[in-house]
Amino acid sequence: MQGKHGGFSASVNAMYDKAVALMDLGPGLAEKIRVCNATYTVRFGVRLRGEIHTFTGYRSVHSEHMEPVKGGIRYAMAVDQDEVEALASLMTYKCALVETPFGGSKGGLRIDPTKWEADELERITRRFAYELIKRDMINPAQNVPAPDMGTGEREMAWIQDQYQRMNTTDINGRACVTGKPLNAGGIAGRIEATGRGVQYALREFFRHPEDIAEAGLSGTLEGKRVVVQGLGNVGFHAASFLEREDGAKICGIIERDGAIWSDAGLAVDEVHMHMREHGGVKGFPGATFDENGAALLEAECDILIPAALESVIHEGNAARIKAPLIIEAANGPITSAANEILQKRGCIIIPDLYANAGGVTVSYFEWVKNLSHIRFGRMQRRAEEARHQLLVDELERLSKARDVPWTLSDDFKRNYLRGAGELELVRSGLDDTMRAAYGAMREVWRQRDDVPDLRTAGFIVAISRIAASYTAKGL
Ligand code: GLU
Repeated sequence: MQGKHGGFSASVNAMYDKAVALMDLGPGLAEKIRVCNATYTVRFGVRLRGEIHTFTGYRSVHSEHMEPVKGGIRYAMAVDQDEVEALASLMTYKCALVETPFGGSKGGLRIDPTKWEADELERITRRFAYELIKRDMINPAQNVPAPDMGTGEREMAWIQDQYQRMNTTDINGRACVTGKPLNAGGIAGRIEATGRGVQYALREFFRHPEDIAEAGLSGTLEGKRVVVQGLGNVGFHAASFLEREDGAKICGIIERDGAIWSDAGLAVDEVHMHMREHGGVKGFPGATFDENGAALLEAECDILIPAALESVIHEGNAARIKAPLIIEAANGPITSAANEILQKRGCIIIPDLYANAGGVTVSYFEWVKNLSHIRFGRMQRRAEEARHQLLVDELERLSKARDVPWTLSDDFKRNYLRGAGELELVRSGLDDTMRAAYGAMREVWRQRDDVPDLRTAGFIVAISRIAASYTAKGL
C-alpha cells in the first residue's frame, strides 16, 4: 500500500507518467517537467515557554516555467519533504489546468498548531517567514504562499506584515502572500473559494448528460446522497453550498472522532457548530455515530467528497468504495494504485488538480488586486447601475406612455439594477475558470479513445501547456 510517507510523490508521479505515456513530448522534457526543481529545508529555534524549541520547515519549488510560483503553507505534524514536493508538483499541474499564470510551490512547517497559543504561533510564523523572505522564497514576483491545512487568514496576515517590515519600499508588498484578511489586502470570497470551486466543478459535471450517465447517475445534484470526509474549510464550504444551494443530501460526514450518518441528510452548518462546541461530530442529534469514521468512505452513496488528507483511499479500501462519483476536494486523497482499482470498476473521479483549484484561482484574483491596488468593481459598479437604471426608466416610461398593462417587479429591478461588487465578480471569475478547465479536460477525455479518465485528461492538458511554455523559452 502506498502509505503517507515516501509514497505521495511516487503516487503523483505515477499518474503523471500515465499521461505522459500518451503524449509526444521531446526527449528529456517529460523528466524536466516531472522533477521538483528545489526544496529548501530550514530548522530554526524560537524561545518559548522558557526554552528554545527547534522547528523544521520546508518550501519546495516544483516548476518555475512561470513566476511567481504559488502554493500554500501547511502546518501539520505529518509535514515532510516528500509531502511538500508532491503537493508542489500538484500545484504546477493545477495552475496550468486552470490557467493561473504561476509555477507550482508548496511549504510546510512540522508543528501541531493546536498545541500553541496564538501569540506563540505568531512568533513561530514570523520567524519561519523571516527565513523564507530573506531567501526570496516569499516575494510578490517570485514565490507567493497561501493558506493550506492548519493555516488561515491570521497566519497570512503575519507573513504579509513580516514581509513588509523587511521590504518597506516594496509598493507591491501585499502581493507577497494570498488568503489574507480583507483588511490586510485580502479579497472577498477567498475563504470559501476552494469549497465554492468544488460546487462549481460538480455543477459543471452535471451539465453533461453523457458524463452523468457514465457515472451511472441521472438527473441533477438535487437529492443526490453525498458523503464528505473532513469538515475543515474546504469540506465545510463545499458541503454547505451543495446542501443549501443545490439541494444535495449530505448523508454522511467523516471527521477525526468518527462519522455521522442520516438518511434524510444532515444540516451541515449545524454539524459545523456542533463540532465547534464539542470538538467532534459525536452526539450530533438525529444522526447515527460510528467511531470507525473511515468505514463510511465505503458507504452506499452517489457522490463521495474526500476533503481532508492525502492517501485516504488506497489499495486497502479502494475495492470497497461504492460511490460511483468521487470528487477530490483534497490534494491527493486517492493513491495511484487505488485510482487504477476505481477506474477499472467504472468509478468516475473528478481529479484534485481540477476539483480543488478554486483556492488558487481566487488567490490569483487577490494577487492581481494587490498589484493593481484597487478593489474589483470599484470603478465600474455605479456606472453599471446607472446604465441599468436608464433601461429600467425607459421601459417604465414606454409602458406608461402606451398604457401597456405590465410593470417590472420590484424583485427584478432590485436584482437587475445592482452593479456587481467584488464578491460577485470573484464568483463569476471562479465559475468561468471552472467551466473552462472542465471543458478543456473533457475534450481530451471524450475525443481520445486512449485517454481512460478525467485525471489523465487533466494531466495531458496541464503538461501540454507547461511543455509549450518550456519550448517557447528554448529550454
Ligand atoms: N493551498 C491551496 C491549494 O492547495 C491554495 C494555494 C494557493 O492559493 O496558492 O491549492
